[in-house]
Amino acid sequence: MICVLTGGTGGAKFVDGLRQVIPPEEITLIVNTGDDLLWWGLYVSPDIDSITYVLSGLLSRERGWGVKGDTFLCLQAMGQLGEPTWFHTGDRDLAVHLLRSRLLAEGKTLSEATSTICDKLGVKARILPMSDSRVETRVDTPSGELSFEEYFVQRWYQDPVHSVRFAGASDAEPAPGVIEAIVSADAVLVAPSNPITSIGPILAVPGVREALRRARGKVAAVSPIIGNAPVAGPAGILMAAHGLPCSIAGVAKAYEDFLDVLICDTKDARAAEALRANGLRVECAQTIMRSVEDKAALARTVLSFAVGGLLSEERVSGRPAARAASDQP
Ligand code: GDP
Repeated sequence: MICVLTGGTGGAKFVDGLRQVIPPEEITLIVNTGDDLLWWGLYVSPDIDSITYVLSGLLSRERGWGVKGDTFLCLQAMGQLGEPTWFHTGDRDLAVHLLRSRLLAEGKTLSEATSTICDKLGVKARILPMSDSRVETRVDTPSGELSFEEYFVQRWYQDPVHSVRFAGASDAEPAPGVIEAIVSADAVLVAPSNPITSIGPILAVPGVREALRRARGKVAAVSPIIGNAPVAGPAGILMAAHGLPCSIAGVAKAYEDFLDVLICDTKDARAAEALRANGLRVECAQTIMRSVEDKAALARTVLSFAVGGLLSEERVSGRPAARAASDQP
């Protein structure tokens, strides 16, 4: 069993690779819910949705979020009614938000609602929200405190950031299965997601960091930072707000209490050498995921570093990339 901590678009790309090289039944995903929001009265969980769509083959790889080929008629109609339209939800995507909201209104937990939606969409991997309690990522800026989606989607992450906090985290409990999945996995993989706002909320749930420290398997993280910049998005700004350098050293520092292996890009070979001198195992690989093949290759490489001989060559080479290639948007 492989456990993956993930959130956002970087994580979704990585999981798209992983699903090509190991059977989905052997993957448990622990997903950030700090970005969740109420939109038009519906409960939207953007990172759970992205991972659900990746694993059901529904994700629009073009956009990196939402359902491929989706239409936006409801969005248009809501705009005509004077409702806000800055957060884009496609029509098929909305069906998932409607179903999740109904299940929650009936008293189901977010884990139960997620499991029901996964079953209906044929997802065979296990997707666990980090917590069933509400934990909200709040970004403190000179214009006041913003929710993550306000900061990222509505305002295009243009505001300077003083700090980030995870409201509700100290009282939250990990969702059922989260701690066991981390502790008992053959390897725990931290996806190349934003370390502050995608992985940070998961780590803020009490008990998660401690579980990572006592995990039976190795904990391996893929760096979302190459050189001194993220591949995309505001990770650098947010890391700086937390006193972390925007570099692989900053990623290593964010995960220092539990990390066994850091996988960084081959362009960071020199920085990797410096980190190794401090005693961390650092491996270099091609980490930019542009194509379906890139994603599968990175997943294979990360698995080989994290589990080595535990998975046979045949298992790790897995399904042909051609199948996933047919899932283009
Ligand atoms: P956000 O966009 O900052 O909210 O962060 P997400 O967690 O959604 O994922 C984006 C993160 O993934 C960014 O920090 C990117 O640098 C990283 N990322 C995106 N694509 C790639 C890639 O192909 N390779 C690597 N190594 N990182 C990536």
